[in-house]
Amino acid sequence: MERKQHFSVPGHPAMTSMREIIRFAHFLVLFFFVLGCDSSRDSTRRQGGVALSFDDHFIEEWYQFAPVLARYHAKATFFLSCPTPLSQKEVAMLRTLQQAGHEVGYHGTIHGNATLLLRNEGAEGYLNTEIRPGLEYLRAAGFNPTSYAHPGGNHTARADSVLLAQGFTILRDVAKAERSIYGLPLYHIPPKYHPFVYYSAGSGPGVDALLIDAEANISRNEIREALVKARDTGTVLMLFGHKPLHSAPKPDEYGFQISFMRYLVEQADSLGLRFYTMSELPALPR
Ligand SMILES: [Zn+2]
Repeated sequence: MERKQHFSVPGHPAMTSMREIIRFAHFLVLFFFVLGCDSSRDSTRRQGGVALSFDDHFIEEWYQFAPVLARYHAKATFFLSCPTPLSQKEVAMLRTLQQAGHEVGYHGTIHGNATLLLRNEGAEGYLNTEIRPGLEYLRAAGFNPTSYAHPGGNHTARADSVLLAQGFTILRDVAKAERSIYGLPLYHIPPKYHPFVYYSAGSGPGVDALLIDAEANISRNEIREALVKARDTGTVLMLFGHKPLHSAPKPDEYGFQISFMRYLVEQADSLGLRFYTMSELPALPR
């Protein structure tokens, strides 16, 4: 799926800017609220963890990348957008990933804009266009996803309600460490300061995961600090990316560098963090 479309926000550019600013303002309010909280007082804290997920339709690339995860006993969730029936080869690769402990989640049929689909076509139209076709392809191939990642991070309360009624138990949105408007940097905030991307038992079903593609410019030190926070607070850090890349992304590519992900899972493993798939999170005991 083209990168521009993936993170596009509908509406006039001025409206897009306003939404970015409002979103940033919301972030700041909660950011300072969380800074004022001292979670270190919880003496019965659980073991911290990390929940990795990967979006879109890079089945072969994910399959080839999976040994990096396996080396550190890391599990992940692969949120698959599914516009056509899966080939036998794709089914075989996804089954192998699932048998290795990974989860196959769902990321829509057309990777559309939920707000516009619901506004223009209603709930039935949204279901018939975005949800049902791809889900039927997946079910025909033997997969029954219970987690959903909103395409482009776009959703509404109505979309969430429709998806929960379909049986999904966790709905994943998008958080970004870095944003810009008209090419001008707006902010870069290290992952450890993003309160929404740390899952505590009982959170959800709507959750945010932080983008860790190369475009997010998250340093190794920043990601390690974020993992240490998950360990120290007994929470689960939720992160997501797209295509595994062997080098810096070309102009038409979007994804994460494999060397960065190798560092991330190695650090998580050495810090004693548990790896969770997304559907395991709502099942965590409080
Ligand atoms: Zn996507």
